[in-house]
Amino acid sequence: MIRYCKRCKASTEHKESLVRKPSSYDTDKSVLGRVTLFIHEFINGGHYYNMNRYVTCTICGKKTLENMGNELE
Ligand SMILES: [Zn+2]
Repeated sequence: MIRYCKRCKASTEHKESLVRKPSSYDTDKSVLGRVTLFIHEFINGGHYYNMNRYVTCTICGKKTLENMGNELE
């Protein structure tokens, strides 16, 4: 997709990628913490709900956060 890149100072082709948002449960490495995280995500409608959307410039590799219509928290 075409997005404006601040580093290239031009509109360039970008690749989309999804990165899971850090959660407070991520610091808990216990089995119970993992299960709690799973249940938490299940209740919130699956993993996609907790994803950050990034676009990466294919020219210079600059990564930009681009969340759209996902500000429900
Ligand atoms: Zn760029």
